[in-house]
Amino acid sequence: MPRRVLMLWLAGCLAFVGGVPLSTAQDPGRLVVHIAFSSQDELAQLAARLDVWEVHRAEGYLVALVDSREREWLAQAGFTFQVDTTHALQPNTIPSYPCYRTIAEQYTQFEQWAVQYPHIAQLLTIGASYEHRDLRVLRLTNSATNGDKPRFFLMANIHGRELITNETALAFIQRLLGGYGVDADFTWLLDYHQIDVLVSANPDGHVRNEPGNVPWAYWRKNTRPYGGCYGVDLNRNSAFKWGLDDYGSSAYPCDLTYRGPSPVSESETQAVQQHVRSLFPDQRGPLDNDTAPITTTGILITLHSYGDLVLWPWGWTGAPAPNSAQLQTLGQKFAAFNGYTAQQAMFLYPTNGTTDDWSYGELSIASYTFEIGSSSDGFYPSCSRYDQLVQPNVEALLYAAKVARTPYLTSFGPDATLTATLTSTVGLTWVSVQAMLTGTRPISAAEAYLDTPPWAGGTPHALTPADGHWDSTFEAARGDIGTALLPGRHTILVRGQDTGGYWGPVSAVFSEPTVWPYAVYLPLLQRQSP
Ligand SMILES: [Zn+2]
Repeated sequence: MPRRVLMLWLAGCLAFVGGVPLSTAQDPGRLVVHIAFSSQDELAQLAARLDVWEVHRAEGYLVALVDSREREWLAQAGFTFQVDTTHALQPNTIPSYPCYRTIAEQYTQFEQWAVQYPHIAQLLTIGASYEHRDLRVLRLTNSATNGDKPRFFLMANIHGRELITNETALAFIQRLLGGYGVDADFTWLLDYHQIDVLVSANPDGHVRNEPGNVPWAYWRKNTRPYGGCYGVDLNRNSAFKWGLDDYGSSAYPCDLTYRGPSPVSESETQAVQQHVRSLFPDQRGPLDNDTAPITTTGILITLHSYGDLVLWPWGWTGAPAPNSAQLQTLGQKFAAFNGYTAQQAMFLYPTNGTTDDWSYGELSIASYTFEIGSSSDGFYPSCSRYDQLVQPNVEALLYAAKVARTPYLTSFGPDATLTATLTSTVGLTWVSVQAMLTGTRPISAAEAYLDTPPWAGGTPHALTPADGHWDSTFEAARGDIGTALLPGRHTILVRGQDTGGYWGPVSAVFSEPTVWPYAVYLPLLQRQSP
């Protein structure tokens, strides 16, 4: 398929700017239009005013949803525009999209999971929305294991209309819960890490996109009234660089990127910041240019749509973040899973007061925005696209969960896949491990652990390169671990190191005793039969 070469489009949600007062939300005259621009200045002017869905820089136009008031302004300001014929507005929201669960259905699912998996799923309410809906987090971790667990905070749907984001978060949870005890990787993840998932940071906004609220289709902000209009853009309301300038957010309540009257003015933002602070220590100095230590722990990912992008801080300035090398490396790892373009947020567009600039800027943790889906998917992707949009992102999120302990280090290291065979004969048991290691630098070492991972004090067993030399970015490795194993299932964990000295994430498989004892005893039993 010819990929949209044209497009340096803007993160759907990053770009939306512009206003939707209640009267406009019900305005039947809303149209999707193409607007020509010829300079960065004109782009900024448009972005500061309109609900911009895409930016096509090379072609010199953007796509925006505008009402009659905004079309008047465009004409007065001298912009030319034409109606977009490919983006038909779809005002019938969820009724035509059965794959998108309502907030009520999502919360019911959370409750069911907490009951079904009480040892690994805990339901938390971290605050409330403006309309007093709960903000609900499902905490995934084995409650029977203690220790200082690395944390990954995933949040979705801070923009109400970005329906695929909640579903991606739910699919991620489903994979982890269903895989616990079945898949060795998911099992060590939940035993040793803690993953908190906020399924909707803006439930009121989501509900506006649900049945019965057709005039509010495409609602992005929360729903609190200000200055004759409704809603604050919760992704411009965070404390870090709040209201820095009028390009990255708007001071006008009717605009789509209205930042609110003061930093963290909204209960939704307050709840998110308070919860995130409770999860992660501040590991970076107070200055913009202070670099977070390479050993910083913790990841935050906020899911948005659309744009096929992986974005990292900063959004408030074009200058690279102090940890830009690390943010870029991990961002490109994510992009390898979902196939998106990975870049610094500001590279396309200025923003201020965003969630991820705050979580990196304030707490130093590795912070990302995923913009799920393409221009043809829009805000309400067809349900036929559900798996194609969700599953590659689930893989990226699983990787995030695996490297959460030291994301700025581990993401530099090679990835491992492995098989392990456990063989027992009377008096002797050994595990044969075969691993494949793939890195960006040549592999320099690999090691296997039996049951206890490296961070928990496990004993490393060095693997050897199958071809006799560690000299390639792709190496097969093997080794035998002789041991006096207890009966039952065991976990074999492997990780690789590269010539840069970086250890990659651990991968694991279960190994069950094979052949013995049945192969030994069954024939004997059979022989005794007449
Ligand atoms: Zn968004």
